[in-house]
Order: sequence, then C-alpha cells, then structure tokens
Amino acid sequence: MYNAKAYSAASATAPLASDTIERRDPTEHDVQIEILFCGICHSDLHSVRNEWSDFMSTNYPIVPGHEIVGRVTQVGSAVTKYKPGDLAAVGCLVDSDGTCPNCKAGLENFCPNQILTFNSPDKHLGGVTYGGYSDSIVVDERFVLRVPSNLDLAGVAPLLCAGITTYSPMRHWGVTEGKKVGIVGLGGLGHMGVKFARAFGAHVVVFTTSPDKTEDALRLGANEVVVSRNADEMQKHAGSFDFILDTVSAKHDINAYLNLLRLDGNLTLVGASPIPLDVSAFSLIMARRNLSGSNIGGIPETQEMLDFCGEHNITADVEVIPIQKVNQAYDRLLKSDVKYRFCIDMASLKSA
Ligand code: NAP
Ligand code: ZN
Repeated sequence: MYNAKAYSAASATAPLASDTIERRDPTEHDVQIEILFCGICHSDLHSVRNEWSDFMSTNYPIVPGHEIVGRVTQVGSAVTKYKPGDLAAVGCLVDSDGTCPNCKAGLENFCPNQILTFNSPDKHLGGVTYGGYSDSIVVDERFVLRVPSNLDLAGVAPLLCAGITTYSPMRHWGVTEGKKVGIVGLGGLGHMGVKFARAFGAHVVVFTTSPDKTEDALRLGANEVVVSRNADEMQKHAGSFDFILDTVSAKHDINAYLNLLRLDGNLTLVGASPIPLDVSAFSLIMARRNLSGSNIGGIPETQEMLDFCGEHNITADVEVIPIQKVNQAYDRLLKSDVKYRFCIDMASLKSA
C-alpha cells in the first residue's frame, strides 16, 4: 500500500479538496500509472453531488474521474502488454467478473458485477474504488488501454468516457454514410458524437439550447444546427431522422426528439438525467420508433475506438485546467458553459 495525492469530496455539498488516499501496490496482473490528464465528465458531478441516489448512492469521501491517461510506472510480474514508460489509459471500468455472457462477449460494460473506477467496492483494499483526480492509479492490465502515439494526450483523456459512450451506440445502430443523425446537447459527449457521426459519413444535425455554440458545432463537423427552443426549426425536421443520440444531462422533453425520427428510427439515450423523463406513447407507436439506452462500451470496443481516433486524428476539444479550478469547472458544467470538455492537467496536483 502507498499514499497517493488526490482531490476528493467529503459530502454531497462539500467542494472537492486536496486529500491523501491509499492505493494498492501492484499485484502480479496490475499496471501502475502516473496520471497525466483526467477529463471531467458530467457523471463525476452527478456522483459527487449524489444526484443518482435512487440508482446508486455515493460513498464519501469520493475521488471522481474516469477519463484517465498517463504513463506506466510499474508493472506486476505477470503483465505482458505494458512496460514502464508506455502511455496507457483507463476509463470507467477497472474490473468485472469475466465469466458472465456479457463479459465473454467483450461487453464488460454490461456485466452485473462490474467494478467502476470510482465509488465501487474495492476488493483489494476494502472501502470503495478511487478515480482519476489523483496522481496515480493501479489497475488490472485487462482494463488498461493502449494510447495511439500521434494524439495530444489532454485531448485523448475524454475519449475514455465521452468518446466510447458516443462511438459504441452509433456503431451498434449502424450509423454509416447517408444516414441522417441528430446529436442532442453539445457538451462533452455531444461534441464527440458529432465528430464520430461525421467520421462515419452521416449527415449530422446538432440540437442545442445554446445559440452561441452554433459556429462551433459547424466547425466540429455538424452539417446543420438547430436551436431546440425554436419550435418552427424543430418542426422542419419532423419524421426525418434515422438515428438520434441524446446526451442531455438534465430533465428535458424527449418526445420533441422522438417525433423527429422516421419510421423505425432509433433514439438512443446516453444522457443520465437524475429526474425521470416522460415518454408519450404516441411518440413511439405512430412510427414504430425505438427508444434505447447505452452504457459506455466494452474494453475491446474502447480499444477499437482509440485506434480509430489514432487513424483519423480525432481527439476531444479540451479546456485544460489545473485541479485547483475543478469546483469552478463543475459550476460551469451546470450552466452548459463547457467547450467542450474540461481536462485536468494532473501536474497541478503536485502543488496542491
Ligand atoms: P455536459 O458536458 O455537461 O453536456 C451536457 C449538455 O446537455 C450541455 O452542454 C447542454 O448542451 C445540454 N443540456 C444541459 N442541461 C440541459 C437542459 N436542462 N435542457 C436541455 N439541454 C441541456 O455533460 P456530459 O459529460 O456530456 O454528459 C452528459 C450526460 O451523459 C450526463 O448526464 C452524464 O452523466 C451522462 N453520461 C452517460 C454515460 C453513459 O454511459 N450512458 C457516460 C458518460 C456520461 P447545449 O448547451 O448544447 O444545449
Ligand atoms: Zn463519464
């Protein structure tokens, strides 16, 4: 066991603050990583403030962070894929049972016994797992990802959650050339959704509540931008979409988007509003529409996504901040004031 520096929250109402946590010494299958950058996901904020308490309660203190990129410092004797000095990344998962049908299919993200990077039971040390707002982490090599060497590391970190969460459902539902695809919400997930949908060859329409994001949406790859508070603009797209990815972090009218799907169209919800959404039966039944959800992605697909990003030069657009600004970043997330992912430069933790 050794001590690591971290930022943690002591309660749902406390700000994140400097802390010292315990990490395990690497066991034979473990990789120890010095964390260089960690993205800030809206799920970090939901968890820190215990907004999902009906579904999963937060244990305090919590160290959030599941968009981790860094350099390997030490490996266990049985580790074969990594050596000290390699770049490495960790996303939302650090373990799963490995034996259930979902794990066998490479879908650890749907394992009933998955261990999340933070706020899950820690089978090694007891207590709960601690995430990436920290100077190091120790993870079983099965849950460590390889990082393409040609990409900017701060822009890579958000791929580990925002990237895979948008890549996976679009692959699953066949977003390809010629498909009309909507992306709802231009935040961390949404802006990655735009980049991937465009890279897959789709016609991309962004729906935003923030008119000042219009120019950026076009620059990020959108073919069209709709300010969703404008009912006339919305109506022009009625019944026309093959696929819509909804990334909104709060309660909103999902029927307004279901009604934009064509016959047999699919809306996949990845945004995780703490407050349930109302779905009108008629939004679905009148055009045999599908409403589905998706949770991050499995380890093999996460590696596939990272390799795809390496080949196509795709990274997140990040605002790099020192960890001392993390609480301000959370306040800005709540105002949709994010362009388009906050990413913590973990070197700043040394002076914390
Ligand atoms: P984010 O960066 O804060 O972006 C969310 C965006 O949603 C905002 O920028 C805003 O976009 C829009 N929005 C926010 N409040 C809204 C409201 N009241 N009505 C309409 N639109 C609103 O968040 P994120 O990190 O991308 O995460 C988005 C959601 O996905 C969160 O709930 C997060 O927990 C969840 N998530 C799920 C998974 C999964 O596996 N399913 C993985 C990661 C995150 P505009 O300014 O463009 O309107
Ligand atoms: Zn996330």
